[in-house]
Amino acid sequence: PTERQAQAIALEDEHAAHNYHPLPVVIAEGEGAWVTDIDGRRYLDCLAAYSAVNFGHSHPLLLDAARAQLDRITLTSRAFHNDQLGPFAAELAALAGKDLVLPMNTGAEAVETAIKVARAWGYRVKGVPDGRANIVVMAGNFHGRTITIVSFSDDPDARDGFGPYTPGFRTVPYGDADAVAAAIDDDTVAVLVEPIQGEAGVVVPPADFLPAVRALCDERRVLLIADEIQSGLGRVGATFACDLVGVVPDLYLLGKALGGGIVPVSAVVGDRDVLGVIQPGEHGSTFGGNPLAAAVGRAVVGLLATGEPQERAELLGRRLHSDLARLLGHGVREVRGAGLWAGIDIDPALATGREVCELLMERGVLAKDTHGSTIRLAPPIVVEPSEIDWAVDQLEAVLREL
Ligand code: PLP
Repeated sequence: PTERQAQAIALEDEHAAHNYHPLPVVIAEGEGAWVTDIDGRRYLDCLAAYSAVNFGHSHPLLLDAARAQLDRITLTSRAFHNDQLGPFAAELAALAGKDLVLPMNTGAEAVETAIKVARAWGYRVKGVPDGRANIVVMAGNFHGRTITIVSFSDDPDARDGFGPYTPGFRTVPYGDADAVAAAIDDDTVAVLVEPIQGEAGVVVPPADFLPAVRALCDERRVLLIADEIQSGLGRVGATFACDLVGVVPDLYLLGKALGGGIVPVSAVVGDRDVLGVIQPGEHGSTFGGNPLAAAVGRAVVGLLATGEPQERAELLGRRLHSDLARLLGHGVREVRGAGLWAGIDIDPALATGREVCELLMERGVLAKDTHGSTIRLAPPIVVEPSEIDWAVDQLEAVLREL
């Protein structure tokens, strides 16, 4: 980094807790798929804030919606009604083909909310004895950072040393429907699954996995909860990753891109017979459903309702994956993904994911490693085809120079 960036990084290091290990770049501005650092150097953003910026930085329609709402009212709390939440809930429910929306802020809050809803549904509707509910979760999952969520993580960095842990979860291998079947008993209220595991390295399960889990959930009267916080809202070339295998979960968990990269907006979306179990006073959030969030969320839903981002992600995704295929055997061991989303396993004998990301940064491409030698590419969906080719060229050049 330049002297200026080094100073900015030093200040952050001095006073911001070290719960992240960012690449040494200090970003000041962004537009579309590109960001600019404080020295004016531009980078292609191939992380898109973990897919929270699916529609690009400073999207004009999303900014307009935010600006218009900023001038009206931004926060009412749910003690009163506001004129944005109703339309937001109606429009998001329609996009998902469901009845109800429970608005929260962050992804982890949506996951926590769904766990409460599933337990409440289990006790009140399914008839599970009080305090006995269990939820089946997947090995390799990433659902957030709260104590309950890390309680059922199997990533030692996320979990170890933060106990005591929340009970009531059973872990099975991801992609193994027989293991899910074996884990379900009379007290099981839900199966919680990422349709594609993001943080695990963009891991796509066998195509028959989710349909089999859906069938099991129907048979055993268990809720299927799809955490689409990273996979949903256009990234995979469809509104939801569940759409790719024709599965409709009982609850969709949405976040990240739902706030258009402007404000944190998350939601649990489901039908009345499930989400309707929550009664006044049992759950809430000071900021959940606030008018600014709802106005931005409406603009996001409006973009997705056209189908254009999904179509573009599908098309661009084909380009990305065909570009990446030529790197197989040339420093790349495996490429996974769907739509405009790729997990790339670098040969660990060559470099760590971190080292590759640092070298990519020097070439003007921002990407993020995950677990050892895997990197993920997930540029904003507004990226140009030629820019995808260029980013993969940079990766090719980095691997050649290792
Ligand atoms: N669920 C999934 C699948 C995620 O990828 C993430 C974040 O990466 C979360 C939940 C947590 O979201 P947040 O960081 O907004 O709490």
